[in-house]
Amino acid sequence: MSLNTFPAHTLHCDVCGLELTDPNDLPWWFADFADLRLMALWAGWIVTADQFAICPLADHAHRDAVTALLPPEPVFEVPGQLSFDTGPDTPETAA
Ligand SMILES: [Zn+2]
Repeated sequence: MSLNTFPAHTLHCDVCGLELTDPNDLPWWFADFADLRLMALWAGWIVTADQFAICPLADHAHRDAVTALLPPEPVFEVPGQLSFDTGPDTPETAA
């Protein structure tokens, strides 16, 4: 009998620690990150390129983690446009 050793990857949520498991509640083992990411996406997880994983739970902690991954809100101003905050009722101009 011989034993072969190979690296295997499992996936855990970086927010709550939940592990990605099969229908029998056994952990999934993957030989490479690409296969792990494909299965995770199929199961509704978010896995970033730098291997940050978020499971599909929808509590505040998970939503905050997803929001932190989003890009900043765009600024809708063109050159020369007056700022929306310079009206007569704003605190800067009322004093
Ligand atoms: Zn989680």
